Amino acid sequence: MMHGFRTTGACLVAALALASWHALAQQGTRLVDDAALKTAASKPDEWLTYGRDYAETHFTPLKQIDDKNVGRLGLAWSFATQTDGGFEDTPLVSNGVIYGMGSWSVVFALDARTGAEKWRWDPKVDRGFGSHACCGPNSRGVALYDGKVYVGVLDGRLTALDQETGKELWTVKTTEDDYQSITGAPRVVKGKIIIGNGGAEFGVRGYVSAYDARTGKMAWRFYTVPGDPSKPVENPALTKTLDTWKGGDCWKVGCGGTVWDALAYDPDADLLYVGTGNGAPWNREVRSPGGGDNLYLSSILALKPDSGTLVWYYQTTPGESWDFTATQSLILADLPINGRTRKVIMQAPKNGFFYVLDRLKGELLSARPFTDINWATGVDMKTGRPIETDNARYVKGPELVWVAGGGAHSWQPMAYSPQTRLAYIPGANSAFAFAQDPNYKYQRGRQNFGAAFTRPQNAQNPPGPPGFLVAWDPATNKERWRIPNTGRPGGVLATGGNLVFNGSADGKLVAYSADKGEKLWELPLNGGGVSTPMSYQLDGKQYVSVLAGRGTGSGRLYTLVLDGKEPLPAAPAGRGPPAPPPTQ
Ligand code: CA
Repeated sequence: MMHGFRTTGACLVAALALASWHALAQQGTRLVDDAALKTAASKPDEWLTYGRDYAETHFTPLKQIDDKNVGRLGLAWSFATQTDGGFEDTPLVSNGVIYGMGSWSVVFALDARTGAEKWRWDPKVDRGFGSHACCGPNSRGVALYDGKVYVGVLDGRLTALDQETGKELWTVKTTEDDYQSITGAPRVVKGKIIIGNGGAEFGVRGYVSAYDARTGKMAWRFYTVPGDPSKPVENPALTKTLDTWKGGDCWKVGCGGTVWDALAYDPDADLLYVGTGNGAPWNREVRSPGGGDNLYLSSILALKPDSGTLVWYYQTTPGESWDFTATQSLILADLPINGRTRKVIMQAPKNGFFYVLDRLKGELLSARPFTDINWATGVDMKTGRPIETDNARYVKGPELVWVAGGGAHSWQPMAYSPQTRLAYIPGANSAFAFAQDPNYKYQRGRQNFGAAFTRPQNAQNPPGPPGFLVAWDPATNKERWRIPNTGRPGGVLATGGNLVFNGSADGKLVAYSADKGEKLWELPLNGGGVSTPMSYQLDGKQYVSVLAGRGTGSGRLYTLVLDGKEPLPAAPAGRGPPAPPPTQ
């Protein structure tokens, strides 16, 4: 007996998804499913999700390339992405295919052995949208699940592609405002695609959303800050925020707290961790003139992934006034602290402190500065609040605040090695001149700071170098080693071969020993813009792969292997000027 069915959109999507699943199954390939994501940490051959595992370690146990033989590393192949440089992407690897993302959310799938292109998908983002994104057209990557590639498109679309063919299966709009964007990589938790947005400088309201991976239907949305005070709050957790906002009318456009990057998941605790961004505008004196902590700006949130219910929160920067987002890498680890094994979450947000918290309860375990700061002298361990210095809030006059809005640490992922039990933070020493701006008025379509940038006389810059890579012991919250850099370095990969790979600000991919920070190897990558390296293993060979390039059409994926003999390609002609460092 034949069963007919109408070719509705939903049926078509289901049929396409089934077809792609069959195609994968016939080739003996492994689907990225819940079990694969849950056990990703122990399966070193592939790199299935942004941080390689739910704990977001950016660590691979692979050790074929190690601190003894890394000098033999050479180019296996490279691939011209035919996009601009300025990458922020960490490519993924599944079933011998690399999935990467270039500027304007162009996605490419390559044979991981040869670099040959399998397919390419261009969402054709209106280039005019560039003025709606604070920090350039680059995003941090895609997600893989159930035979699909999930893409957060710069202009706010979330799209599911067939993993085999790159054909579009569904698209939803994640944004409520034309000045919201997506630069973060989606994550997948129990059949839901988790994605946040950027755009706080334009005056938008922050939230994180979950979508059904099969259909694209929204499952929940958690707003991080309150909206119109005359309306009921959208979730019970917002009730607690209301008393922390005093006066001001930023809610008319959106008070910030965007979720533009870090997410992590603990499958045992079933908690999704979310980092939230700065206030809109930056200056609390404008945004909330009566003071207040302005929850949940600049916070780490623990949510139930099925419902978006808030379980606990920790606010790194109460009454945020400096673009001190807490959207930087969130990494989970089990650490011996004071004779006990603690399940921790760690973060080195823009404000310059390295935080270690119990990830089940949100209890602060330690907080220490990892760079030069002058806005606070420490964190009060009883209250969990920073001890601010007198003029940190620039109300008595202009102040040169160490750290700048670009952050002591920004989107460049830190890594954590369970072998060395060290975190590796790519950071910057910076300062920003702040003053009150009595003439400030909100302007739609402009970046709204609510502050003037007047440098005080005789102000001293921080003494440290412009950038650094620091190895940090989270169990004792102390520095282990530090490499100065001429600027902010790229994202970090730590490996089981006692190596840390990191792109220097002057465009080299560098390998250091993970335990001691000895420089062991380096390779200049044609002009800079080195993003975040990752590693995989195919046919018994370990590869290290990284996107790099700066300027028009300069993008290239470089894949390295022991005894690789391919010559480095020449720098592309017509290379543009260096891109300004993104701040988000
Ligand atoms: Ca910001």
